[in-house]
Amino acid sequence: MAKKRVVVIGGGIAGMGAAKTLLEKAGDQLEVTVVNKDPFYMAGPTRPLILTGEQSYDRIVRGYEEAARLGVRVVFGLVDRVDPAERKVYYREAPTKAGEGVLEYDYLIVAPGVVLDGSEIEGYQQYWMNAANVYEPGRVNTLKRRVWTANEGTAVIYAPPMPYRCAPAPSETTLAIHTILAHRGVRGKFRVIHVDANDKPQPPVIADVVKSLFEEAGIELITSRRIVEIGKDYIVLDDGEKINYTILALLEPNRAPRFIQEAGLGDKWFEIRSPTNLRHVKYDDVLAAGDVAKLPFPKNQEIAYESALYAANNILEELGAETVKVQYAFLGWAYVGNLQGKLETLSLKFGLNFTTKPPKPTKDPEPKKEYTKAKDEWEQAYLRNLFGY
Ligand SMILES: Cc1cc2nc3c(=O)[nH]c(=O)nc-3n(C[C@H](O)[C@H](O)[C@H](O)COP(=O)(O)OP(=O)(O)OC[C@H]3O[C@@H](n4cnc5c(N)ncnc54)[C@H](O)[C@@H]3O)c2cc1C
Repeated sequence: MAKKRVVVIGGGIAGMGAAKTLLEKAGDQLEVTVVNKDPFYMAGPTRPLILTGEQSYDRIVRGYEEAARLGVRVVFGLVDRVDPAERKVYYREAPTKAGEGVLEYDYLIVAPGVVLDGSEIEGYQQYWMNAANVYEPGRVNTLKRRVWTANEGTAVIYAPPMPYRCAPAPSETTLAIHTILAHRGVRGKFRVIHVDANDKPQPPVIADVVKSLFEEAGIELITSRRIVEIGKDYIVLDDGEKINYTILALLEPNRAPRFIQEAGLGDKWFEIRSPTNLRHVKYDDVLAAGDVAKLPFPKNQEIAYESALYAANNILEELGAETVKVQYAFLGWAYVGNLQGKLETLSLKFGLNFTTKPPKPTKDPEPKKEYTKAKDEWEQAYLRNLFGY
């Protein structure tokens, strides 16, 4: 019998997690093709440590070669169109790898992550270059250089409305900036302002600890305010308050890539049936996994991976194959810098278990160095599992 074709858009945590699971459990029945826009993957969680010099790119970037040797068919290209009625995925040549074409599928898993979209902020198009953040490779270097070279002024850090990928990353950025400025001996010449569009720094489970660390570090906190305008050296909040900045670390609001909307798969996010049934509300053969899915949970690596296992199970069940055990629950670590200015980041450990109602939060409110190490080990384990090294 001919193998059924599974196409996975996006070779990240969710896409590779789903691909690997499907091949392990039903490799005899399935041909799995992952299409990814870059010939490499870069892990997210420890990226903020690039600011302090505690993390380096070589440890968090992986190629797809070893995964391909283990049986995942990998195609490089930028997906810009999906036709769910014809069961086709169209991809264009991506920057460095030859290739464009059409992939036909029996099952499609959509897992391209998120797009950062600042278009609703007035002045963004003109002044985007003033806004760096820890989310993208080049931009984290820009932010690093600015924080390590500016000698006085105001650093503004911005978290957009939830949902966005990785709840603690903006406050991690704020505390890293404090740490570096303190380390350089210029913290006294800076105002550090954390503007949060949400009612508290995210995630809520550790907000009390983060707030008290902000207080101790002299970091000003503005909550429930969105940035609506960026100027050359100022931002404007939705209540009209204008704040001058020297350094701006801004995370743009997140959304799904445009091809999802154009294919009728969702507006801001991919419309799934439920957290355990990742099929599209209209198409039985189109599923989502990872940050792109409209899940009622935080967008993070554990949830992304768990949703990928559920999506894989949805297909495995239909094939009559063995499924994998999975539940929605995670443990995470949030960097909280080092208030004394030592380039030795401490972290909080926290968790949320969504199998209980209401979800059960846990945390250790004591920042510890060992948690920073644990986060690194956890990320490395993911990379080994999904990319083969
Ligand atoms: C700075 C930062 C810090 C983070 N911190 C944490 C943390 O502390 N804890 C935690 O649990 N999570 C954290 N995360 C979040 C975590 O990395 C994501 O939730 C997770 O990677 C989501 O998995 P995904 O597969 O949905 O997306 P990704 O892992 O981003 O994978 C998406 C893949 O799709 C590809 N792609 C995108 N568009 C297309 C297209 N059109 N065509 C082809 N390929 C495409 C991309 O190149 C990428 O390989 C952090 C993320 C970042 C960036």
